[in-house]
Amino acid sequence: PGADYLSINNIEVIYDHVILVLKGVSLTVPKGKIVALLGANGAGKTTTLKAISNLLHAERGDVTKGSVEFKGGRVDQLTPSDLVRQGVIQVMEGRHCFGHLSIEENLLTGAYTQSLSRGQLNEQLEKVYHYFPRLKTRRKSQAGYTSGGEQQMCAIGRALMANPEMILLDEPSMGLAPQIVEEIFEIVKDLNARENVSFLLAEQNTMVALRYADFGYILESGRIVMEGAADELRNNEDVKEFYLGLS
Ligand code: ATP
Repeated sequence: PGADYLSINNIEVIYDHVILVLKGVSLTVPKGKIVALLGANGAGKTTTLKAISNLLHAERGDVTKGSVEFKGGRVDQLTPSDLVRQGVIQVMEGRHCFGHLSIEENLLTGAYTQSLSRGQLNEQLEKVYHYFPRLKTRRKSQAGYTSGGEQQMCAIGRALMANPEMILLDEPSMGLAPQIVEEIFEIVKDLNARENVSFLLAEQNTMVALRYADFGYILESGRIVMEGAADELRNNEDVKEFYLGLS
């Protein structure tokens, strides 16, 4: 992998000292690409993202083997907020907007790792609103009273406020109607194309994710069992049968 890659190498994760959840996972995300991490509920997708962001500790999980590199340097010893400063940010599953704050206040919390002037903050906000016009319309609304799709947009928009080079996006389609899922993936594609943000996308929704991703990895019980270009995976008979429910 070249200097602009995120790569994780042979990661093993154990929860509570005994539960081996990732059994040596390796993957790379090239600069400017969308990579999908696919697999059933419980396969280890969220754990993989948390291993990258160093969010496992709080959950009594430990990386016992392997390394994470970003742009050629080790990042596995950084705190989550230092990793954000390096350009890698995670959007957690389940959206996690602050329900009692307005959409705009939520977005502003995303800029905390930078010290921006009021003018720069406004520029960042305008950028987010450019990609998510719905958030602009709803900017004064209390986040907890907005729709699931708007809350997912708010979570991605908040991550954008940190000006990331790479977003680790966990299950953005969860609980959303198909039309909203498409809307969100279109925006992801747009951010990738225009802002050159790379994405590592954990998804159970294999079919949709492979339409938007460049490359995919399939995780099963903590191991990568298949990988390939998104088009190849979409047309692979095993993938169709086991993961797309088209058998
Ligand atoms: P999901 O779609 O539910 O997020 P996933 O593929 O992301 O699924 P993980 O959440 O990474 O899967 O979970 C992988 C395995 O690790 C599961 O068997 C889960 O029960 C277990 N696990 C997850 N978090 C913990 C924890 N904090 N302590 C112990 N076991 C955990």
